[in-house]
Order: sequence, then C-alpha cells, then structure tokens
Amino acid sequence: MKTQPKTQKRIQHISLRANAIQPSGIRKFFDLLSSIDGVISLGVGEPDYTTPWHIRESAIESIEKGQTMYTSNSGMPELRRELARHLKNEFAVDYDPTDELLITVGVSEALDLTMRALIDPGDEVILPDPSYVAYSSCVILAGGKPVHIPTYEANNFEITAKDIEERLTPKTRAILIGYPSNPTGAVMSRKKLADIAALAIKHDLTVVSDEIYSKLIYGAEFTCFASLPGMKERTVFLGGFSKAYAMTGWRVGYAAAPKEIIAAMHKVHQYTMMCVPTMSQMAALEALKGEQDSIAEMVEDYNRRRQVMVKGFRDIGLNCFEPRGAFYAFPSIRCTGMTSEEFAEKLLSEEKIAVVPGSAFGKCGEGYVRCCYATSLADIEEALKRMGRFVKKYKK
Ligand code: PLP
Repeated sequence: MKTQPKTQKRIQHISLRANAIQPSGIRKFFDLLSSIDGVISLGVGEPDYTTPWHIRESAIESIEKGQTMYTSNSGMPELRRELARHLKNEFAVDYDPTDELLITVGVSEALDLTMRALIDPGDEVILPDPSYVAYSSCVILAGGKPVHIPTYEANNFEITAKDIEERLTPKTRAILIGYPSNPTGAVMSRKKLADIAALAIKHDLTVVSDEIYSKLIYGAEFTCFASLPGMKERTVFLGGFSKAYAMTGWRVGYAAAPKEIIAAMHKVHQYTMMCVPTMSQMAALEALKGEQDSIAEMVEDYNRRRQVMVKGFRDIGLNCFEPRGAFYAFPSIRCTGMTSEEFAEKLLSEEKIAVVPGSAFGKCGEGYVRCCYATSLADIEEALKRMGRFVKKYKK
C-alpha cells in the first residue's frame, strides 16, 4: 500500500495510514475559538437550532422508562421499519428494514464502514475536489487511494460522467459523491446524476452517495441517487439526522444498501460501535414519526440567511457562487491575493471572524473560504460588516 506521500516524515510507532491523513481543517479553527473573546463563528457546519422539543422529550421518556440497554446491532427494529417507510415516502426507494438498512453513529461512521467494507489495499475511489473533509481520509484509512476530480465554479462544482470515465482504472472500486455539497452548496441536476448512473451500469461500478443535506434545498430539485433506475442495487445511500433535525450531538445516521454490503458493514460496526446509543435511536424514531413542520421552518430561515450572506459577499466585492443546498456559502477570496489559509488566519486575528479555508476541502478549494450561514441573522450581518472592512483593506 502506498498512501504515504514521499515528503511526509513518518512518526515513530504511528501507522502509515494514520500518518498519511491530516487533522481536520474544520476543527483546527473551531478549537482556536474558545480561547478568543467576541468571535463570530461561520466555521463549523452545525444548525444553530436546538433539537425540536418533541424529539428531546422522547429521549427523556426512554431514559425514564429505563431503556438503557444495548439495542440490536443493526439498530432498533422499529427505527429501521420507520426509516424504510420514510425512504419510500420521500424518495420512492424500497429498502428491506431487516437486511438493507443499518443505523450508524452519524453519517461519519457510515462513511467509514462503507470504505472498510468495500476497499482492499490499493483500490481507488473517485470523488470530487473540493468535497467534505472526511471523504479522502476515510478512503486512505481503509487502505484505498482517493482519485480526485477537480471541479470549478464555472461548472457549478459538479462532476460529469465523462470526468469519471477518464479516471477509471482496473483498480477503481467506487465513486463517492455528496450533493448538496459541503463545502460549495452545489446541487447536481437529475440529468447529470442520470449520466453517472448510466456509466455505473456500463462499468459495473458502486456509487456511494452521501445525502445528509437532502432536506436543505433552496429552489433546486433534489435527486436521491438510489432512486434512479437500476441504481438501488449498486448504491450505498448514506443519510442522517444531524442536519435536517438539528441533531448533530445525538450521533445518528444510517446506511441503505444491497444486503451483501450492509452485511459486511454490519460486521465492522459490531466489533467497533456495537450500536447507536439507545436514547438517540428513540429520538431519531420520534424525528421520523413526529411532526415535520419544524424542518420547513428551519429551511425557510436558512434560505433567508443564505440570501443575505450571498448578497452581502457580492456587495463587499467577493465573487460568490450561488449555493442551492446545505448551509454554506463559498465566496472566492482571490481578489485579496492571499491563500485561503492566510485569509482565514488574518480574518480571525484582525476581525474575530472564523471561516474555514477552502483548501481544507481539497486543492480546488484554494482561493475560497467556507462560511456557514446556520447562525443568527444578526451575527451574519455583523460578520459581513467586519469582512467588508477586511476585504477593503486587502483587496488588490
Ligand atoms: N457528510 C457531510 C457532507 C457532512 O457535512 C457531515 C458533517 O458536517 C457529515 C457527513 C457527518 O455527519 P454526521 O453528523 O451524521 O456524522
């Protein structure tokens, strides 16, 4: 296995795989914040809402009833049944709750399990650049090799079937996509996803689709990849509760996939997590069964903030791609002549605004910063004021 870049010195006693990955570029800034007063954070991608009360209440009730034991390793049967119903209603895909669904510790665990279940040393996984920080690292930790497809603002940060086809080798094991995208907010059109589906059939490929932001869409059409004709049997569909239900701290997600893949993921899950905390599963069950109005309210609110932030960036002279999903804006900071890391560091020290350098998400993220708008309008407006001052000072 050759995942260790030649220039990187190996740390003694640390495995090549652990040595080959970098600490998360998102967390680096997050951890700095607690030591500085008055910082406005546009850094971490987390709803600023508290989990709706009826969801919290169901977890409290489960504790009061003494439901404190392990559950089935696959996840509580009632939760899997409800999830199957939900996936059918929302996306018209039929999953068998007994052997095609696995409840995981967030999409984070589901991603790790997927890679460990699919990849042998040296296998290649094709994925977009920029993309979510965990994608490449999970591939490397599983012994695989990430193969990046550069994406650009001019092309809506989308990948095409042609991009993928050009990178296929006998070692290609899977394609990993995540739309709506973190960090760009791009949403892939149904047509382009259908082209990828046709390619997957032609070359007998597995597609891993991270759809954690499926509910956070603004004026665009969301397409569930597994719902495309012929795709359910070759897709590992990852979803979760963190973003849509403001449940980041509960750590619940799921994988839906053909039963052979779920069985392999289940084995790894059994020996590592065993099961998701029981009270979190009870909360997730209530999230699916209970009223869904709070989601629509949150989405409406995020949309308002999205519009303010994007317009605000453009008004202060930063070119800003129009995000159609998730809760991130990805303005270009090239006009300052700084790298995205320099920009983020200076902005934090001079104006106390935390953003994430685009380079944390891959080479094509250089020249951009990721700003999360899941924060109050008042903070967004103050952040724009401070960033306006900063950009005026450094604009070339
Ligand atoms: N996938 C994407 C694209 C994300 O942005 C995140 C979190 O920010 C995750 C997965 C992890 O989500 P979870 O909280 O379900 O582990």
